[in-house]
Amino acid sequence: MTLASAVDVTRRYGAEIALAGVSLDIQPGELIGLLGPNGAGKSTLVNLLAGLRRPSSGTVTLFGGDPREPARRQHIGLTPQETGLPPTLRVGECIDYVAAHFDNPLERDEVLTRFGLNGLVKRQAGGLSGGQKRRLAIALAFVGRPRLVFLDEPTTGLDVEVRHVLWDVIRAFHAEGGTVLLTSHNLEEVEALATRVIVLGAGRILADDTVSAIRGLVGVHRVSMASTPLPRLRGVVSTSESDGRLHLLTPDPDQLVRDLVTATVPFRDIEIRPTTLEEAFLQLTAA
Ligand code: ADP
Repeated sequence: MTLASAVDVTRRYGAEIALAGVSLDIQPGELIGLLGPNGAGKSTLVNLLAGLRRPSSGTVTLFGGDPREPARRQHIGLTPQETGLPPTLRVGECIDYVAAHFDNPLERDEVLTRFGLNGLVKRQAGGLSGGQKRRLAIALAFVGRPRLVFLDEPTTGLDVEVRHVLWDVIRAFHAEGGTVLLTSHNLEEVEALATRVIVLGAGRILADDTVSAIRGLVGVHRVSMASTPLPRLRGVVSTSESDGRLHLLTPDPDQLVRDLVTATVPFRDIEIRPTTLEEAFLQLTAA
């Protein structure tokens, strides 16, 4: 059963078109990374699927019905924006407050432990650091034992250690059968977590596939080496230099190596690898 879907959805804000004919569906067990530059429409799409806003046209469903009905929303988890945390409520009270909205919530202690919030239980939400607020916001998304979780930029602004703790929590939820849609600017995060990537640009879906297929869409490899300046080589789509190494993007790395040898280029430490998601993403959204 499809958990959530959008069919030809458009959303306008006045004259601004935030989404222009977006269709997608979310199946149980998926961990989807929604990628796109600022203003691409990621938050708008999440808000429509989670029933926080209505589409201007097209149809959005959640568990087969209208996402705005409370009965549907019982089974989703959502990270509230930081400003949504009541500043005078303590961390433990925030968890209890959210738990009260659900039939079978997680125990408070389990939430505190899973998200490393034990030491903060008596602290007021308003006094938490930015990173601590984010951690609490993400924890709150899981309190109601959701089947589907929407995480909007979950780890932006968090240090690496905390980010990895949260990745583990997301992975564990997914491993237990949970479904996740996360938006991120952090391509490393999407690469590390997602089973499916949707690239959004200017309100449209530019690509919707597995991480490796999205990389493959761009169809180039990166060939790096230590070398003196190179002659002109066939098929090289871009050349850059960093840390004393040259990096060439090419659709045919085998041919490039043959050409380097034929031209007797004195290269050392050659490394060939598929394009990263970041490189693919930059090409897809460059238009
Ligand atoms: P993203 O999350 O990818 O940064 P958004 O969904 O926030 O993108 O925004 C998509 C577009 O819609 C942007 O051009 C943004 O300015 C516009 N937009 C988003 N929310 C509103 C709003 N409440 N009022 C007016 N315009 C909005």
